[in-house]
Amino acid sequence: MSCLKNTEKFSTGLPDTVVIHYTAGRDAGSSAKFLCSEVKASAHLVIGRDGKIIQLVPFNTISWHAGVSAYGARQGLNKYSIGIELDNAGVLQKTGSEYKAWFGRSYPENEVVLATHRNESKPAYWHSYTEVQIEACRQVCEFLIGKYGINLIVGHEEIAPGRKQDPGPAFPLDKFRDRLLSHNRSDEPDFVDKKGIVTADFLNIRSGAGVNFDKIAPPLKMGTEVSILEENNGWYKVETKITGWVSKANIGLE
Ligand SMILES: [Zn+2]
Repeated sequence: MSCLKNTEKFSTGLPDTVVIHYTAGRDAGSSAKFLCSEVKASAHLVIGRDGKIIQLVPFNTISWHAGVSAYGARQGLNKYSIGIELDNAGVLQKTGSEYKAWFGRSYPENEVVLATHRNESKPAYWHSYTEVQIEACRQVCEFLIGKYGINLIVGHEEIAPGRKQDPGPAFPLDKFRDRLLSHNRSDEPDFVDKKGIVTADFLNIRSGAGVNFDKIAPPLKMGTEVSILEENNGWYKVETKITGWVSKANIGLE
């Protein structure tokens, strides 16, 4: 399905942001149809509860998902971001034993999450997301990070607080973006079980990541095997008989 309402392309170096939404609709198909209708709204993707992805707008083209919005110094996030809509009914009202969406449909208790929104102080009922849907969204974001260097994933609720509540607390936004974007941070790679070897004649081992930190033992000799625990700004935290920081340039990876 395509519903190009706008042919304006992103500027060079953009998009660098993904904005996550919920549709507040009945199902992915009807939401996609709505976004393709005469309304002045659109999004790049709609992801169904079965994980099926419907693309409405090409990734190189600006879509209209953010509306009046701001983040940091930026105003109007459409020109910076890819908009992903997740099929979800949104906030639900409990009446008796029923949980009802604004459009009248009831949802079973096993699809309801009681949680407090990040912008609110009291808990409310929210339609849950499905695991396959979150996983599909994760895969799309991973692809976009690789293709465009996306470095920010935000919820609509964070760029239009007060006006928008999506994706809401049923979506694990903080965990989701931490997991996706921490791979890109050079200061926090995953060094579990990574081995290295000292390639300099003598290598000072210090209490911190820098030459201004104290030497904590005699220098390590060439050929000493180390386990790499952490990286920080050109330094490795390593473990041999002792644990300390060494200049990364003098460690060969095995
Ligand atoms: Zn939204």
